[in-house]
Amino acid sequence: MKYLILGSGPAGVMAAREIKKGEPDAEVTIATEEFASLYFRPNLPELIFGDLDEKSILSPVGKDVVEMGVKVEFGKRAKRVDTAKNRVLFTDGTEMEYNFLLIATGASPESPFPARIQSGSFFFLNSLTDAVRIRNRALRSDSALVYGPGYLGIETSRGLRMLGLQVTWINPGMPRFGNPISGEVEVKAKEILREKGVKILEGTEVADIIDRDGKSYVVYTTGGDVVEPTIVVIATERVPNIDFLEGSGIKTGNGVLVDEYLRTNVPNVFAAGDCAEILDVNRGVNRINFGWRSALKQGELAGQNMLGRDMMFIRNEKDYFGLLVGAHVLERWPKEG
Ligand SMILES: Cc1cc2nc3c(=O)[nH]c(=O)nc-3n(C[C@H](O)[C@H](O)[C@H](O)COP(=O)(O)OP(=O)(O)OC[C@H]3O[C@@H](n4cnc5c(N)ncnc54)[C@H](O)[C@@H]3O)c2cc1C
Repeated sequence: MKYLILGSGPAGVMAAREIKKGEPDAEVTIATEEFASLYFRPNLPELIFGDLDEKSILSPVGKDVVEMGVKVEFGKRAKRVDTAKNRVLFTDGTEMEYNFLLIATGASPESPFPARIQSGSFFFLNSLTDAVRIRNRALRSDSALVYGPGYLGIETSRGLRMLGLQVTWINPGMPRFGNPISGEVEVKAKEILREKGVKILEGTEVADIIDRDGKSYVVYTTGGDVVEPTIVVIATERVPNIDFLEGSGIKTGNGVLVDEYLRTNVPNVFAAGDCAEILDVNRGVNRINFGWRSALKQGELAGQNMLGRDMMFIRNEKDYFGLLVGAHVLERWPKEG
């Protein structure tokens, strides 16, 4: 049997491992747009200020699955899924066939800025290569603008401030899909950021932005502030990567709609992780269950169900976005003195 998995995040890699464990002769391929094997995405802010390097955030499970015989194809971005012919077409013009398909393409931050100015020193914080690019540019910058709500905004501001940049953080309010930290922790984290010299702008939005030369910007806010950063980092909430499913017949809402067994409406297609909008049997509604631990669990269950089992996903509040990066979010600054 041919099992094709789109995405090399925790959901995709755990599914591959389960399939290989249950059916060692299966042909399992992970096709991913990334160029690195599985890494701890929650550690990306540490990579920005250099506490960790690229190698130290790699997960050993990425290596394990290759040793088990899983083929990993890097640099493959799915463009279209043809469910009638059981094949996926990629942006590089190649295609792959499958008997079973898992969509584990996770999510990406949305930008509030027009596409025409998203070049030069404009960065998103989502992947390993993003974090490396941000660090390299930040080392040659003196002032940063961070845009994004809640936890990701806090962590990105911290990373850049710890590198010594003047940081202005525009906090556009609550994330749409919920904040992984409590309101109380967020208030305290903001107090610490202010003490450390981060300027926080709230209750305001970006009104306009002038790209001076691809390296420096003038940003006007609706509240009348003017910020002149030499690097802009977008750390907005991640939304499911599902555009490539258009026309496939696979039903989507905010994410890929799946039942409690992670099955889509197409019998041999499954979805897991941040891109999956799973039926919550208790409430009778579909919802996305973001977070690292949740993706690990969903990947495991999807892998087993692709082998024909009936493992039900039961939402557990503890799986929801447990903060994974070592110290508590309020204790990540270096001790003074
Ligand atoms: C900076 C940051 C900090 C975070 N901190 C925490 C934390 O503290 N705790 C926590 O629980 N969670 C945290 N998260 C969220 C956590 O990383 C995700 O919930 C988790 O990675 C989701 O796993 P996934 O496998 O569903 O998707 P992802 O890890 O997003 O992996 C999806 C993969 O699919 C690939 N892909 C996307 N589109 C395509 C395509 N068309 N074709 C092929 N491949 C594609 C992507 O490149 C990626 O490799 C954080 C995220 C970020 C960005």
